Amino acid sequence: MHTHSTASDGTDRPAGLVAAAHAAGVEVLAITDHDTTAGWAEAADALRPGMSLVRGSEFSCVSATGRGDRPVAVHLLGYLFDPQHPAVRAEQARLRDERGTRLRRITERMAADGYPVDVDGVMALVPAGASAGRPHLARALVAAGVVESVTEAFAKLLYSGSPYWVPKADTPVETAIEMITAAGGVTVFAHALARKRGRVVEPSRIVELAAAGLTGVEVDHPDHSPEDRELLRRLAGEHGLVTTGSSDYHGTNKVTPLAAETTDPESLEKLVAQATGVPVLHA
Ligand code: AMP
Ligand code: ZN
Ligand code: FE
Ligand code: FE
Repeated sequence: MHTHSTASDGTDRPAGLVAAAHAAGVEVLAITDHDTTAGWAEAADALRPGMSLVRGSEFSCVSATGRGDRPVAVHLLGYLFDPQHPAVRAEQARLRDERGTRLRRITERMAADGYPVDVDGVMALVPAGASAGRPHLARALVAAGVVESVTEAFAKLLYSGSPYWVPKADTPVETAIEMITAAGGVTVFAHALARKRGRVVEPSRIVELAAAGLTGVEVDHPDHSPEDRELLRRLAGEHGLVTTGSSDYHGTNKVTPLAAETTDPESLEKLVAQATGVPVLHA
């Protein structure tokens, strides 16, 4: 229910992602590239017998933490929304533009400090129409021999708050929920308590977002501790949120394999039942 292709920062083309999911025994696959639906068509064309495709996207958002400190970047999974909805289209286009500008600026800062990377070389790793992300720069750093792996690139140079960090103007999460819902989609708060990535929101914010129309929370995610999964499951039960599980697969840009975490069929049904934008596709 949460995977990335070359339409953003994954390493499998959308068709390859579908093939890999089929090989892994996945029956229902969601493609959720960052701030784009560019991978939907190729994934749909590649669908294998017995498989279903949930078309989605991971929206770059910003949220108050619930503690009164500065806002934090959060990710919102939107599923089965109409990709032609004007607000969704415009906001995704703006975010992709924002992503490109930001990656260029991070690259320039590193080049100015003597790292052997350049804007043209990094941007050449981003396919036309795809969403640029730090993993593209991470790969350039690996290719240049600066670091051994994408993981090392993040740990040493690309982490949030690093000297080379450049922020991007993300969508207020309440606005994104409203926009995706208006486009007939459903929304799931992605890796809400992934503490190893930095600051996370307070549980009280998840309660507020549930009241603002959030459909579900991603509970079983590789970056969630067992304790946080329990906390999220309890919150979901108390506030009528659907719970999901997913690998957040990025091909070789991350270590987690496909289907490392999965969503139970009843949860999927609840999501699908509330969506009206585009249908689930069956081969
Ligand atoms: P960006 O979209 O440019 O803000 O970069 C965030 C993306 O980088 C996430 O969606 C992940 O795909 C990836 N990422 C973040 N932290 C790590 C890490 N420690 N190792 C590998 N990939 C990471
Ligand atoms: Zn990513
Ligand atoms: Fe994410
Ligand atoms: Fe993701």
